[in-house]
Amino acid sequence: MRTIRKAVLALTVVITSALLISCTENAINKEVDGVSAELKNRFLDLGFDASDMQAHTSKNPITGEVTQGYLLEKDMFISTSQLEEMSNSKVFHVGAVGEQYRTTNLVSSPRTIRVLGYTGGSNALSTKMRTALQLAVDNYNALNMGLSFTLSFGTNTGAAEIVVYRVTGSAGGSAGFPSGGLPYKWVQIFSGTDSYSTSVVEHVMTHEMGHCLGLRHTDYFNRSLSCGSGGNEGTSGVGAIHIPGTPTGFDANSIMLACFSCSESGNFGSYDVTALEYLY
Ligand SMILES: [Zn+2]
Repeated sequence: MRTIRKAVLALTVVITSALLISCTENAINKEVDGVSAELKNRFLDLGFDASDMQAHTSKNPITGEVTQGYLLEKDMFISTSQLEEMSNSKVFHVGAVGEQYRTTNLVSSPRTIRVLGYTGGSNALSTKMRTALQLAVDNYNALNMGLSFTLSFGTNTGAAEIVVYRVTGSAGGSAGFPSGGLPYKWVQIFSGTDSYSTSVVEHVMTHEMGHCLGLRHTDYFNRSLSCGSGGNEGTSGVGAIHIPGTPTGFDANSIMLACFSCSESGNFGSYDVTALEYLY
């Protein structure tokens, strides 16, 4: 199974259109500028893989809001204010080297999370994406946890905790981490994802929702395990907390691996279920 995973492209290649033919959950359609060593070290201290982190200006096409921050591990956006929040977290952990990780920020539970599949204009989800989003929401509602999810389609973003919308790009998606007890609200799905099966799109949707709920990449400590290249420079600190009951080795079935293949089932791995039901 691993052999069909596409190698993640080196950063210099990622920025080019060559990514369009890859099967990573990555798309770099953003503004890039330099990142100081000091900033990089702050993310390393938080346990992130900072090897390809980039300063990133997130422009929400729906609200017009512009947020300054950083993109890490290909698809996780962390704003400058959230970096401060994470840096000041009281939750400490040293030596995270295992499976299924969460950030220091979680969604308060129990809670009903209203998911909106966006249908407005050029950011509207495709028919396949809408089907896949329903399947992703079903995945979460099948779990035994205090969080429950509703799904509707439309443009009323004010009445939703998670909004899933489409942007022009290669295959994959982008999301962020919870703050203030709420999930990360804005999930981007790149338009090229549509060229894969509904199950692969379901995988991307479920994966990005996992970030919104605080899950990190299962193989964050060595991204080459799913991507074929890359690595980890952040092995300790706050921000990467091992979830009890999940393995300390590589979990090839996790939906939270950094890269995905073209033959994903769209379903959780058993330890993903353990992790989510433990957290919520
Ligand atoms: Zn991800």
